Amino acid sequence: MVLNSPDSLQASAETQFALTHSKLTAGLAADKLQHELLELEMQNEELRATHLALKEALDNYASLYEYAPISYLTLTTEGRIAEINLTGVALLGEAREKLLNRRFSSLLSSKDADRWHLLFTSLIRREKKEMSFELVLQTDQQRVLQMQANCVFLMAHNAAPTVRMVLIDITEANDRKQKERDLRISATAFDAHSSMIVTDAAGDILRVNQAFLDLTGYTKSEVVGKNLRILKSGRHDKVFYGAIWESILRIGSWKGEIWDRRKNGEHFLCWLSIAAVKASDGGITHYVATHIDITERKAAEAQIFNLAFYDSLTQLPNRRLLHDCLISSIEMAQRTGRQLALLMLGLDCFKSVNDSLGHSAGDELLQQVAARMTALLRDGDMVARLGGDEFVVLLENLTGPHDAGRVADDIIAELSRPFKLSQNDDVRIGVSIGISLLAQHGDTPQALMHNADAALHQAKEQGRGCASYFSEEFTAAVQARIALGSRLQRAIEQQELQVFYQPQVNIASGQIIGAEALVRWHDPVHGLILPTSFIPVAEETSLIVAIGAWVLRDVCRQGRLWLDKGLPSLTLAVNVSPQQFRRCDVNVLVAEVLAETGFPVGQLKLEITESGLMEYQDNITEILQNLYDQGVRLAIDDFGIGYSSLARLKSFPVDVLKIDKSFIDNIPDNKDDMEIASTIVAMGHALGFSVLAEGVETPKQLAFLTEIDCDSYQGYIKSCPLSAEEFAEFYLSHI
Ligand code: C2E
Ligand code: MG
Ligand code: MG
Repeated sequence: MVLNSPDSLQASAETQFALTHSKLTAGLAADKLQHELLELEMQNEELRATHLALKEALDNYASLYEYAPISYLTLTTEGRIAEINLTGVALLGEAREKLLNRRFSSLLSSKDADRWHLLFTSLIRREKKEMSFELVLQTDQQRVLQMQANCVFLMAHNAAPTVRMVLIDITEANDRKQKERDLRISATAFDAHSSMIVTDAAGDILRVNQAFLDLTGYTKSEVVGKNLRILKSGRHDKVFYGAIWESILRIGSWKGEIWDRRKNGEHFLCWLSIAAVKASDGGITHYVATHIDITERKAAEAQIFNLAFYDSLTQLPNRRLLHDCLISSIEMAQRTGRQLALLMLGLDCFKSVNDSLGHSAGDELLQQVAARMTALLRDGDMVARLGGDEFVVLLENLTGPHDAGRVADDIIAELSRPFKLSQNDDVRIGVSIGISLLAQHGDTPQALMHNADAALHQAKEQGRGCASYFSEEFTAAVQARIALGSRLQRAIEQQELQVFYQPQVNIASGQIIGAEALVRWHDPVHGLILPTSFIPVAEETSLIVAIGAWVLRDVCRQGRLWLDKGLPSLTLAVNVSPQQFRRCDVNVLVAEVLAETGFPVGQLKLEITESGLMEYQDNITEILQNLYDQGVRLAIDDFGIGYSSLARLKSFPVDVLKIDKSFIDNIPDNKDDMEIASTIVAMGHALGFSVLAEGVETPKQLAFLTEIDCDSYQGYIKSCPLSAEEFAEFYLSHI
């Protein structure tokens, strides 16, 4: 819109009046002239009034334009400011002269300048009639203003096209929007899952959220206005609360675990975060506290701890916890110079309880063992279960090394009392204990455990039911035995074993009636090794099964060969270890070997030691009966030292009792032994057994045996064990 100014209107009216006046003076009558002059004056008066009204309107318009509460700008098509109202000038904070002709984009942030350029161009190109967008103005006073700009493209008849722009300051509106958003966020946060309280500076509650009410059981009206103290459980002392307030005053916050109280009086453990809200002058105006109930989490943690560090059957500490405690106990003992001992326990006969009464009885027994041990030991001592029937006792603050032995003796006495289980109220077990002492036997948990374990082996070796301190020599012997075990494994594969035969002689006739098969080991490095050195090692592992089977097969094969070569028939006795009965089916083995070799069953005798027979309680009678029914003959070896009951002996289908060599050795010097030997012979005969004496070396011994009516013997007096070839020769020469 282009406006004509009021001054130019006035000038054109005056020119018109002067022209008219001169024409009248030249040609018209004076009265007419007078009349017209009057009319013209009137018209002039009207014009003046119009002019004044117009000027007033223009002034009004100008002040409306200049002082409108929004900024108006007119831009050239190059984007320069052609016109700006006073509001706009005030908004941009610059003098009008500085703003006129300046590119509008120079007032924009660089991001907005690019956007502006695109939009402005599309407006100029008349791709858009008008446009409206938000932009950020950066004034020369470094103020940042968020504006809404509305632009219209204007075409004029006789002037260059322009762009009219209206700028509206929306900074405040945006701030308000942001504040509203913040408020909404904090309101949502306040009503979130964790319990929240806002108090004033005195700790009086102003606001709580639903989670707080749920947690404590209070209603809003019951707590608002009350002091935070209503949550006190009474579990913490003044010092504890003092520390909390001290932290809040010093660093403005406190976080930690605290026991609080619900409305119903119940205590709960929570994680409390409390923060002070400060005014601009630094004074505390409010406190905001959040609570998280961690009672359940703590319980879960405790359960996890329990599972990780305690044995679930006995509730005793497990190997891991023992190890951790051992580390700190060693440190403590080293600092204080006190004695520390580790006792490794192995229950004797636990396996037979488990096997015969079942696993639940075994579990019950272990629980009772744990309970007895816990009751027996002092508070500071620790008993842990490593698994199976292995328990460990950690003794601290001992006055001397002998204390450990005394405690071990007490444990042995305590555990040898019968146990009452639900299935059987008279279960007896024993315990062997190995002891290692800090410093003397090691100063790391590993060394102490290892050496206590070695000492336990030693204790078992010494005859079970006893305690033994660790000893280097013993460990060396154990190591040698372990080495022997691995060599023995190879010996079987490499066929280093050989069976020797010792003749058995009928005393009355002097005839060789059979032979005992005795295994030998020809070790390529260590030479000949006797069975007393390697059979016990083999018995500790399953090697005895392989060795036993090999000997039986070799003996039956040899026996068949002798028969085939025409040697008169003999009874061949093969030693069978009680471990073989435990670990394999001897009946099946015997049947297989006899079928394989064709050796007559009636000529095979199996020897089982008296102690082995007594130790193997389970179903030995049945097994022996089966063997007997197959036609195999049975002998009780080393008889007299195993304290077997006569009643029990009668129940076995046995043919021969072999008097142990130890009763023969001291004949004729030891009257007791002679007495025992003659009793065994008499008793054996009374029970229907044939009696054989082992280890007969002298004619006097033989004479005595003849006198007491012993049936047969074997011993060096006749022959030591011989190789198969030697034996065949020997036999043939003695027929
Ligand atoms: P055993 O069955 O009591 O065998 C008798 C042992 O006494 C044999 O020792 C034999 O050589 C020895 N002996 C025989 N007469 C005399 C004598 O007059 N004086 C002396 N000082 N000793 C005599 P060996 O061969 O060393 O066997 C020892 C033990 O090894 C056997 O005792 C037996 O229990 C076991 N054994 C031997 N061979 C086997 C086998 O193949 N299997 C199993 N399981 N054990 C075997
Ligand atoms: Mg024997
Ligand atoms: Mg014997």
